Amino acid sequence: MGLIPDETISEIRARADIVSVIGQHVQLKRAGRNWKGLCPFHGEKSPSFNVSPDKGFFYCFGCHKKGDVFTFVMELQGKSFLEAAETLAAQCGVVIPETTHNPEVARARGERATMLAINKLATQFFVETLASPRGAAGRAYLDSRAIGGEQRAAFQLGFAPADWHGLADYLQAKRADLEAAVKVGLIARQPKAGGFYDRFRERLVCPIILPGNEVAGFSARLVADAPKDSPVGAKYINSPESPVYKKSRLLFGLAQARDAMRIKGRAVLVEGNFDVISMHQAGFTETVAPLGTALTPEQVELLRRQTNEVILFYDGDRAGRAATRAALSLMLAAEVPVRIAWRSRGDGVRLEGQDPDSLLRGGVDVGASLDHARDGLAHYAMLLWDEARDSASQRGAVLEDLARLVANIKNPNRLEVVASDLSTMLGVRPEAITRAAARAARAGSDAQRPPHSGPSESAGPAPVDPAPRPPQGPVPQHELDLLALVADHPTLLATPQANRAFSLLTDDRLRDMYSAARAGASLAVLAPDRLPPAAIKILLAGSYAQHPKPDAVLDAKVKELEVAAYKRKTIALERQLAQAKNIGDTEEIRRLVLEVMNTRKQVD
Ligand SMILES: [Zn+2]
Repeated sequence: MGLIPDETISEIRARADIVSVIGQHVQLKRAGRNWKGLCPFHGEKSPSFNVSPDKGFFYCFGCHKKGDVFTFVMELQGKSFLEAAETLAAQCGVVIPETTHNPEVARARGERATMLAINKLATQFFVETLASPRGAAGRAYLDSRAIGGEQRAAFQLGFAPADWHGLADYLQAKRADLEAAVKVGLIARQPKAGGFYDRFRERLVCPIILPGNEVAGFSARLVADAPKDSPVGAKYINSPESPVYKKSRLLFGLAQARDAMRIKGRAVLVEGNFDVISMHQAGFTETVAPLGTALTPEQVELLRRQTNEVILFYDGDRAGRAATRAALSLMLAAEVPVRIAWRSRGDGVRLEGQDPDSLLRGGVDVGASLDHARDGLAHYAMLLWDEARDSASQRGAVLEDLARLVANIKNPNRLEVVASDLSTMLGVRPEAITRAAARAARAGSDAQRPPHSGPSESAGPAPVDPAPRPPQGPVPQHELDLLALVADHPTLLATPQANRAFSLLTDDRLRDMYSAARAGASLAVLAPDRLPPAAIKILLAGSYAQHPKPDAVLDAKVKELEVAAYKRKTIALERQLAQAKNIGDTEEIRRLVLEVMNTRKQVD
């Protein structure tokens, strides 16, 4: 997607009544909550084509075609997603934003199309290589993980050969735009020798496929020990952020899982790409994963649009526990129903320490764990409570931690129900929870604070971040806007203008994030720990992602911040001046009047 803003797509989805759109082509009759008719995709005499207006979804029991209103138009009329969206927008009176007519945006769209085409070509190269003699190491790796042909094809898995020019040569032979290939991080320039070299080498390559079969980027895993001459021996290398690859807004496996998520009404969230593939192979095709980072609010939003509830099935280790808590916190705030998968064998033996892949291979009935997954907050609460069973101080700490989670719930009725459930479960008075939650809410939402370390050294969530509590209060708009700009264009952080901008930031939270971002951290990851949700939303909205001249925007922002700084100075000076007048200190009055005038001049 991406060519049309997500909000516009949501609006089309909301306004285009699936029953009337499909009703133009199929005679539909009401059947309970749904509508039925003769399938337009296969010849039939009795109706097995169903439309659910509640879910915004159609499904044929005869030929198994299924999808939403966009898919219907795409499939029936052979349109691309964009064309289908334009058709539907026109029908239901949604205006697709003007940006189409802006030549700069048109250029950005052209660039995006070029990048997607390069990614497609590269996928083809990696898939061909995996099947060739050069792909033996990749095939051996997949064999070792028992990943079969069906999944290899569904996920378009490929292999990047060990030689340094395989892909660069291939792209060159195809007359591809090599500059664009550099921008999407597939190849890099050779500084001295000239020419290009491959960034992914001797790695199993998983493309991140968008619904509609576009390839946004790649995640590449080492299959052997790090090559000696390689400066990047990391187990995984991922595509860098680019106009087509924004990892905070993508989920691995979404294209492959989307239909199952709709049909089953749930999404299963795991941590790793290979967990996703193993889960799909085991039949849990509603499984997706964030792309090697902490879950983001955008990803939660993405899930909400596709399905009714999310089941968390993260690794059972310490990091997995911390990630589970963070995901739980985001989902509670976004009011997405969330459950946590059980990890026990039929005989009741708990298997907390394992990841989904090893549970699947260990013969655990993962289907039952998912089906019987408990409410997320209840599960998390019981887990910590059990571990703290003998210590009053640990239980106090657990209560505080839970209260911070509960404080994410904005709806007062729901908050009351949850507090009452928790109090019954833990055997404490409901007020103990509501009061702690209110305290936590006053201190800022959960998202602003690191989780408590939990009661047990071996199994608790990740250790407490030693950083002091961030200051509270609203985030200054201009400064937040500046961070939103560099979030979309991290390369700006290396410029002198960015140094100037940093010196003008007044909000400590933003200053901290800004310097962490300059040290290479992702703002998408930092934000949930430091900012209130409304600010996170602005920061990560991607408003500048397609801006053709981000450096000019940076200049303008610096100007704005300078003006704001001068204004603050003027106000302070005027206050001092008033005091000096009160006292009658003529010398001081003269000095201050001059300074006020000088400062004013700078603002104007
Ligand atoms: Zn059919």
